[in-house]
Amino acid sequence: MAKFDTIGVLTSGGDAPGMNAAVRAIARRAIQNGIKVKGILGGYSGLVNDNMIDLNARSVSNIVHRGGTILYTDRCLEFKEEEGMQKAIATCRRHNIDAIVAIGGDGTFRGATDLSIRGIPTIGVTGSIDNDVTATDYTVGFDTSMNTVIECVDRLRDTCQSHARCDVVEVMGRDCGEIALKAGIASGAIAIAIPEIPFDEDAAIERINAARASGKRSMLVILSEGVFSTDGKPYGEVLCDVIQEKTGIETKFARLAHVIRGGSPTLRDRLTATEMGTYAVDLLLEGKSDVIVAEVDGKIVNYDITFALTMDKMYKNKLKPDSLDAFSAEQIAQMKKVCDFRASEIRRLYDIHLGLCQ
Ligand code: ADP
Repeated sequence: MAKFDTIGVLTSGGDAPGMNAAVRAIARRAIQNGIKVKGILGGYSGLVNDNMIDLNARSVSNIVHRGGTILYTDRCLEFKEEEGMQKAIATCRRHNIDAIVAIGGDGTFRGATDLSIRGIPTIGVTGSIDNDVTATDYTVGFDTSMNTVIECVDRLRDTCQSHARCDVVEVMGRDCGEIALKAGIASGAIAIAIPEIPFDEDAAIERINAARASGKRSMLVILSEGVFSTDGKPYGEVLCDVIQEKTGIETKFARLAHVIRGGSPTLRDRLTATEMGTYAVDLLLEGKSDVIVAEVDGKIVNYDITFALTMDKMYKNKLKPDSLDAFSAEQIAQMKKVCDFRASEIRRLYDIHLGLCQ
């Protein structure tokens, strides 16, 4: 078993409900194994600028149910440069931090690899409301954000029903439309627009007209922030005008924005964060480094970070000509299988939506 004096834990990039539950699990699992814990404040900037607190069992009390992150988060550009990274490494050496668990999304994991290859073993735990890390079926925060969306949309539905209106609701999700798709289905949206699937505007207008003709009063359209009109504008506001113009139905636009990042995490997020956090410390104790914790088919597993991020690029069509050079044919086939399955699941759910949105 690997020996550690102190491990650091940080939250980085966009915050997500459940990050605190992960911090608690990481701190307590480490303490249980005789390891001291530092809470790095403000993501990687806390490492660059030597800003941290001691964590003990009591300092992570009363946070399992809280949204946001008690360790704060930041987007630290300095850490992306060699000089910033060297400052971060020096901070680790100064405080005897011999390993780190970094909670965040793909950017955070790139930073984790940079630390690992410079001699500080680092493990990534996903915290992202978007479920946008291809290698894992689930990212901590996703369930809470979807539940917040359906709560908000149900409220909008009440007033749409009273006024016989249509609401176009934009939710977060730049590359990944899963929040819009799943929360849209669960809210009974008449149309859903996501980055992964071309949106048939004419068919949506036809559906809205037909539904109104058959007596439907409230209409909800849900879309991701990552959908743009042909001239590059956020599509939600454009679509709102188009619907009003082409159907004559009063249509309003609502952007839920950061509302869906906050709030108390659901059971799913608390539990998954706890399992992933605990497992991350166990991986360090086993001597692992430079991996992310993932959930695959209901099991908590780990993936090499470069492998996971390359798979992510493959799914998001961001591969460079040489991105796959370091991988075997078997690994590339594994990446393709995951990407194909993910895309087919999105398509399957979208087709279910299309069949029901009458
Ligand atoms: P997320 O982790 O949610 O994807 P970001 O992409 O903003 O969020 O990344 C979070 C932080 O991770 C950045 O502010 C930066 O400090 C660090 N980071 C991102 N990309 C890299 C990189 N290529 N190398 C080193 N650190 C990075």
